[in-house]
Amino acid sequence: MDLKEQLELQIDALIPILYFQTYEDMEIVTLLNYLKKMGKKVEVWEVTQENETLEEFLYSFASGIDSLEDVVLVIKDIHFFFDESKPNYPKIVSLLKKIAIKILTDEDSNGHIILTSPKLKVPFEIEKYLSIFEIPFPDNSKIENLIQKFAEIQEENILDKEIKTLSQYFKGLTEIEITILLNLIYTNGSFGTKESKKFILEEKKQIIKKGQILEMIETKETLDDIGGLENLKEWLKQKAKVFANIKEAQKFGVDIPKGVFIVGMPGCGKSLTAKATSILFNNIPLLRLDIGKLMGKYVGESEENMRKAIYQIEAISPAILWIDEIEKAFSGINQGGSEVTTRLFGFFLTWMQEKKSEVFVIATANDITNLPPELLRRGRFDEVFFVDFPNEKERKDIFKLHILNRKHKIDGLNLKSLASMTKGYSGADIEAIVKDSIEKCFVENKKLSDEILFEVIENTPSISETLKKSIDYYTKIKKEFKMKLASKK
Ligand code: ADP
Repeated sequence: MDLKEQLELQIDALIPILYFQTYEDMEIVTLLNYLKKMGKKVEVWEVTQENETLEEFLYSFASGIDSLEDVVLVIKDIHFFFDESKPNYPKIVSLLKKIAIKILTDEDSNGHIILTSPKLKVPFEIEKYLSIFEIPFPDNSKIENLIQKFAEIQEENILDKEIKTLSQYFKGLTEIEITILLNLIYTNGSFGTKESKKFILEEKKQIIKKGQILEMIETKETLDDIGGLENLKEWLKQKAKVFANIKEAQKFGVDIPKGVFIVGMPGCGKSLTAKATSILFNNIPLLRLDIGKLMGKYVGESEENMRKAIYQIEAISPAILWIDEIEKAFSGINQGGSEVTTRLFGFFLTWMQEKKSEVFVIATANDITNLPPELLRRGRFDEVFFVDFPNEKERKDIFKLHILNRKHKIDGLNLKSLASMTKGYSGADIEAIVKDSIEKCFVENKKLSDEILFEVIENTPSISETLKKSIDYYTKIKKEFKMKLASKK
């Protein structure tokens, strides 16, 4: 159902207040024109209006001075008034409620109130009289239309194929953002060229970052950059195959993959794996969710922030949503965590359970001692993987990878001894050993050797020495939640 049909339905159902959450004035103007065509009288009140306050405007309709017959009252940017600290807040809410009741009970008052705002903020006093609309992000065909029209206006030739590719880059942006970007690539002369895509991607990253919750990450990492974790890599490869052929897979009866929860020791490749999935999944966008920034100070604001982030990533999809250190948000819920966190958690679980979009979620966590067990149960993620400290073979691989990455040779090095000397060290510890050894070689003008590496190992304590508590806990719960081991034995 498109927005106009939705609007018509609500108007027929006599819902008194319609709340449009949007930054898009363009969409609102189109809708208002549509209402006028339906024979409605549209009365708009804006913050910049000087001849009448909002209270006066509402009062004239609430008190019957002005008729509510076939009238649509439009109040733009209502969020400025839905602020409990403002002295006129109770009056405005009461007037809105009065008009709503009048619309519902008085036969001649078949009008409506439309509130618009970029933020969702609803006083509970009027909650029951109101229905919320969200202007959807433009879909593929709408974006293609926008590009086509733009090209026509500018008298530029653009191939259909090019329009299709370009439209993928605009996914998850609003109509205004797309229009501005089209103007920008036209003025900088890159419209219809390869450069335009790079430009759009950079701008899109900035736009998403401004929302403060999601961040688009460009990655170079591939599975080959990860030492070990073979079981996890195999599993991801399988999901990537499903994702790459999602339509055929669904026809065949395969579910859309939900995602994976990777838990375990810090510095052992969890984030590295999340980053590597972007290229593995055919270069689909990877967006990191900063869960700490979700917590807002108003009631309902954090869910609203999460809902917005989810809404945006679903518009961008197929995509990967990476929730880094999920324990920072959801620890301690079952031991009396705040109401906001509990609600946010419930919202997230429901979304995960019901998700049908092509958003693959990767959650990572180091410390799960206080995480609610619901998160680890089946149905939310397709699988929970446990990443342990690397075993001897894995440590050997990690040494090799990092030495070669820094353009040094492994011939003549005793990788086996290096691996056996570093039991209990994390991948990040090994990387640090290689980094420090190479720096030492540079300063002392030497070739990388076992001797130098051994010396650095002696002076680098392993992280497992400081993590005894977590290690014991993981040993206890690995079986209980049937976690898969990320490494092959
Ligand atoms: P975490 O498990 O805490 O998310 P990271 O994935 O961020 O750890 O690892 C930190 C760094 O340590 C990585 O960027 C990488 O350089 C190195 N590292 C950790 N594990 C591995 C591994 N299995 N293979 C190669 N490098 C690793």
